Amino acid sequence: MEHHEKHSPSSFPMKSRCPVYEAGPAGDAANRGTAMHDALAQMLGAEPTLNLFTLNDNDVEEVEWAYKHIQDSISKTWPLEVETKLSYYDAKMREIYFGHGDAINGPNLYDLKTGEQHVYWHQMAAYALALMNERAYKSVEVHLLFSRFRKVKSYTITKEQAEPAILDIIARSEDPNAKPTPNEYCGWCKKQPICPAVKERVNAISIYNDWKLESYNPLEIAKDVNQLTKAIHLSRLMKKWVDAISDITKDHEEIPGFEWKEVSGRKSLTSNSSIFLLIGKAITDRGGKMELDQFLDQCTLSIGGLEKFVKKSLDISAKEAKEIVASSCKEFIKKSESYRKLTEVN
Ligand code: SF4
Repeated sequence: MEHHEKHSPSSFPMKSRCPVYEAGPAGDAANRGTAMHDALAQMLGAEPTLNLFTLNDNDVEEVEWAYKHIQDSISKTWPLEVETKLSYYDAKMREIYFGHGDAINGPNLYDLKTGEQHVYWHQMAAYALALMNERAYKSVEVHLLFSRFRKVKSYTITKEQAEPAILDIIARSEDPNAKPTPNEYCGWCKKQPICPAVKERVNAISIYNDWKLESYNPLEIAKDVNQLTKAIHLSRLMKKWVDAISDITKDHEEIPGFEWKEVSGRKSLTSNSSIFLLIGKAITDRGGKMELDQFLDQCTLSIGGLEKFVKKSLDISAKEAKEIVASSCKEFIKKSESYRKLTEVN
């Protein structure tokens, strides 16, 4: 039987950057994503599936938001199809790839995205192309539902756009001479520990420091402590480099291929005493009772803050305040577990 590699639309964005990219094992984020997709499919009417991952309240709210958006925007002209298999066949009717559309409503494709707002064009183009071929549409409307951000991104993909882009990715990744091309997705790639292209780039830095490693595979490094020492130096150097790059990017407004997004700041409370009075008034005005101990249980105190408070209240030294706090609150002082830190010997 002729061997033919099956492709997966979810790896197309990565394969568009490196033809030999290979997806690594699913992490927690992926398991959470799968469970959320299952929950959405069930809300939309699919059969329940067994999923051992428990969704928390926030995840459930995200799924409910996506469900509501789909319900509010679909048209009755077409049926709503859930988790429908979409396949793309070549001229010899071989199935080249397949995936499952989260929700399909005529030429509209809805896809739940539970993580960051990455670029998904190639993945969606693959689904859209399969849908266009199966149903003879000329174009498909894609709706990405970024549930964490409660944001919908919609765009049209035509057959003229999708076909050459997807066929090119497939052709390049099936080329036996395809070369690895390091890119921003290397961290997700299964081949990273043994990838010659990544190794070459790391070597360029390490060669100046005599930190060149015999192997970049963590399992090999672990076998020899001398290699491990070099690897630690190298990884720390690279971390410094990564941090330095993050730092300098802050000075650049326009960076090709990137855009700045405003992330709204976290809210916090600034005065416990004023809040106690204000919230106490709000509760009693509504006929409730303000319980001081219950209120205090919601407040967090630091040991340092408490010591400062005692020092100021009694006008004593910091040392005395420390002793008072330690002796009077002994049973309520909790110490987190100690851990080991690897520090460099000079
Ligand atoms: S680790 Fe290597 S094979 Fe994987 S994406 Fe990066 S360059 Fe390509």
